[in-house]
Amino acid sequence: MKFSTLKLTTPYLELDDIFYDKVEPTPLTSPFIISVSQDAARLLGVDEELLDDEKLLSIVNGTELLEGSLPFAMCYAGHQFGYFVPRLGDGRAINLGKVNGQNLQLKGSGLTLYSRQGDGRAVLRSSIREYLMSEAMHGLGIETSRALALIGSETDVARESLEKGAIVLRLSPTWVRFGTFEYFNASGEYGKLQELADYVIDESFPHLKGVEGMYLEMYKEIVVNTAKTVAKWQSIGFNHGVMNTDNMSIDGRTIDYGPFAFLDDYEADYVCNHTDREGRYSFKRQPGTAHWNLERLAKTLSPIADYASSELILDAYFAETYEDEYLSIMYKKMGLSLKEDKDILLFKHMLRALEAARIDFTLFFRKLSRYDGKHKSILDIATFQEPLREWLELYDKRLSREILDEDKRHEMMLGVNPKYILKNHILQEAIELAKKHDFSMVNDLLRVAQNPFDEHEGFEHLCKVTPMSAKNTKLSCSS
Ligand code: AMP
Ligand code: MG
Ligand code: MG
Repeated sequence: MKFSTLKLTTPYLELDDIFYDKVEPTPLTSPFIISVSQDAARLLGVDEELLDDEKLLSIVNGTELLEGSLPFAMCYAGHQFGYFVPRLGDGRAINLGKVNGQNLQLKGSGLTLYSRQGDGRAVLRSSIREYLMSEAMHGLGIETSRALALIGSETDVARESLEKGAIVLRLSPTWVRFGTFEYFNASGEYGKLQELADYVIDESFPHLKGVEGMYLEMYKEIVVNTAKTVAKWQSIGFNHGVMNTDNMSIDGRTIDYGPFAFLDDYEADYVCNHTDREGRYSFKRQPGTAHWNLERLAKTLSPIADYASSELILDAYFAETYEDEYLSIMYKKMGLSLKEDKDILLFKHMLRALEAARIDFTLFFRKLSRYDGKHKSILDIATFQEPLREWLELYDKRLSREILDEDKRHEMMLGVNPKYILKNHILQEAIELAKKHDFSMVNDLLRVAQNPFDEHEGFEHLCKVTPMSAKNTKLSCSS
């Protein structure tokens, strides 16, 4: 199957028309393809080379439509940094329709009814970040929206300075957000709230259809999925940066990549988002923020799902799911197959030691994945060795009581501790080259990030300790 021969359906348009606004994409000038993800295309049933498809560019640029495509923008509301905004919506995203369970969406293709003061555009810089990180997150085994193609252009877009516009073709099994429900709660249209819940059950939780108390069951699944995803973020050192309720996918996957970052040196209080002065969305607060957002959702759904029951679900499932998921990943990351009572203390001690040692989070676990009892191999990458030396002694004792042999332990650890993550300074290098029309690094990063646990010959420079000046820096939200 060729991409341009896909036939789309538009189930969202079967909802009442206050859920969306039909809108044509506004094409960019002098567009060109920067990168494609053949892996993402396979989700749609596409098995022919995307780059051989002469219509790909015009479809992503919005000058041509796939069969059945009826472009539209979705409305939603959201709590942004704690404050409710009753009307947000796809201000620069335009949905094309659905195929094979994936909703196709163009991000950066012009004004919609929901653009507010914005220009409907996305700049090259942020589009490269979103494109690569979507595919990288999937490579890391974390639920996420995907990206099929990235195009650039000569269209000027005004941010702090003039930049060029770009478009990412994103895919997701759902684009409904917590904020989509908030929109209809705030407007008092509870019938619409129920209509949306029925749509979400059809789209994301079809096994719940007709089940007794299905809206509460839906809420429970959202709680569980969200807790698991955030546990995976914490285990890998990912800071999303803008966990507003409009950026929370209703099926718990990671969406809307903005000023995200991976931790360089481990630092629990790290805040990647420059505009987040209070640190509301700091790394360590992410589980708490997810919980806060789920509380908002429980309130939002209260006209159709009993609030007290939702609260009980949140209490019963969030923390437990989060901890189970986080700990089960941590056991693997540390190469432990047996469970002992004091392991939690060992984990906590490790995090304290990592912070005190000022050590690269990703590199530490990758080195630990080949650890053979020689402290030097680990201590060499620490800024301060003493705190970690102490911990390694405890870890050695703990390993001595393990049953896994060293090879098996290493194999397990290498499969969960990535070698390649998209650190911001690395993405920035790719962005600088792309601004000069050299897209080789974007494509190299795509390749390594899609298989981050494998060795990739010739790319050792991508997994070094971050240069001091680029460590745990903050990013602007402008995109
Ligand atoms: P974000 O912080 O990127 O999740 O965006 C929050 C809201 O602002 C969403 O409703 C976006 O669609 C909208 N938005 C962000 N950037 C733009 C833009 N350049 N033009 C129009 N709307 C935008
Ligand atoms: Mg409408
Ligand atoms: Mg958003």
